[in-house]
Amino acid sequence: MLGLPDAATACLFDMDGVLTRTATVHAAAWKQMFDDFLRERDGDSFTPFDQEADYDTYVDGKRREDGTRSFLESRGIELPEGSPDDPAGAATINGLSSRKNELVLDKLRENGVELYDGSVRYVRAAREAGLRTAVVSSSANTAQVLDAAGIADLFDARVDGVTAKEHDLAGKPAPDMFLAGAEALGVPPSQAVVFEDALSGVQAGRAGGFVFVVGVDRVGQAEALKSHGADTVVKDLEELL
Ligand SMILES: [Mg+2]
Repeated sequence: MLGLPDAATACLFDMDGVLTRTATVHAAAWKQMFDDFLRERDGDSFTPFDQEADYDTYVDGKRREDGTRSFLESRGIELPEGSPDDPAGAATINGLSSRKNELVLDKLRENGVELYDGSVRYVRAAREAGLRTAVVSSSANTAQVLDAAGIADLFDARVDGVTAKEHDLAGKPAPDMFLAGAEALGVPPSQAVVFEDALSGVQAGRAGGFVFVVGVDRVGQAEALKSHGADTVVKDLEELL
């Protein structure tokens, strides 16, 4: 009934793009932060951050500081790392990253979090069928986003950007975060299913030896999701119900 192999006893859901429509919020926050920085540095003739191309290539799915560093490198800009205590917006990797985070939290407070309703129905159905559920996301704001969306109680465990830092887990496409999610639910990968919308995410699912990897295609990349490791690809989790 859930479109999964019989061996499945647990579901590991990526958040951004699978459960919540927060990708646009992140892209807008990156753009505002980088454009403010570039305008300050280069004047009005600066080349703005491209919310699609630059977002996909340099920042999507990465840990925040890695995203900041990676985009600046693409522009040949080198900044000191600074420290997590740097004021938001300071011209360091940490300062700019904090500013981006501040902007995301502002936007989420102002506009709330939009959910994919089909995914929420699916998570509820999985729980009713007795499967255990976890969220596995690189976002350091996972707890706040789940709370704001009112769906925190649908998950038995959470592995996120904060946990990953604490336990020194490698980011996706390494399988470490999903493996930690399965462990938190007390099941081996051979009984856990991964739900992902990112290429690096389905790759992580394949690398971890999970029983099944569901690719969620929000942007028309079904073939790429398959070739990176998805066992099946759907446009919405509703299709599996
Ligand atoms: Mg995602």
